[in-house]
Amino acid sequence: MEKSKYNDVSIIGIPFDGNSSFVRGTALAPPRIRQAFHSPSTNLFSENLTDLGSIHSLSDLGDLSFSEEEDAFSLIENTVHAALKQDSRLLCLGGDHSITYPILKAYATAFAQLTVVQLDAHPDLYDEFDGNRFSHACPFTRIMEENLAQHLIQIGIRSMNAHQKEQAERLKVETIDMRAWLKKPSIKVKGPIYLSLDMDVLDPAYAPGVSHPEGGGMITREVIEIIQNLPGPLVGADLVEYNPNHDPTGITDVAAAKLMKEILARLLES
Ligand code: MN
Ligand code: MN
Repeated sequence: MEKSKYNDVSIIGIPFDGNSSFVRGTALAPPRIRQAFHSPSTNLFSENLTDLGSIHSLSDLGDLSFSEEEDAFSLIENTVHAALKQDSRLLCLGGDHSITYPILKAYATAFAQLTVVQLDAHPDLYDEFDGNRFSHACPFTRIMEENLAQHLIQIGIRSMNAHQKEQAERLKVETIDMRAWLKKPSIKVKGPIYLSLDMDVLDPAYAPGVSHPEGGGMITREVIEIIQNLPGPLVGADLVEYNPNHDPTGITDVAAAKLMKEILARLLES
């Protein structure tokens, strides 16, 4: 009955933190985010009055289960690929940021002209980190080297270093760091958008539950405004790097669930 009004959207939990460089814990995130999302402390409406609790074209496919036998990245890529074949737009709940690379490998087969908007305190542009080319510090190097996106815009960066600055130039990445962001630049995009949201783009005051907190970040309202005003159709998103082990008061899962609602509303809209 609502099929004509909304896109098909699926939620997939990806409880994987095998490429985290500092501490583990983000694999615990998907059930915690879902719990906050469904908490009776609030309702399931996004701010534009999309009722996420009653839309039949929105489904939750549950969490991937990883095993010793199957390569984790292959499982992620194949699962996303299968969902895209069903014409579903995806919100993937991480997990560490390394998962964006296999997700985008699948997306690149469905969308040739994708722009990735990455909200993050960190550029994640190392060539390798601690000897791992697939570390959560490296995904956007692999993504740009393999042309999985036509353009990458990073917003909220505040931990650039000399190596990653070189990488950003080599890979033609557009970086809007926190200093530039305060001047309120407009985000210019052509074509469909994929949003990769690292929870540490938020200031640790708003989201302490991350593995790599970095001061001087965004308030929750700023991130909501970015999501609501992304200039183009949103065809996919991930929400990564929430670490419940660092979130004793549950502030961060509430923030994650709030951002999840606004992302789902954008994914659903035609
Ligand atoms: Mn980060
Ligand atoms: Mn990141």
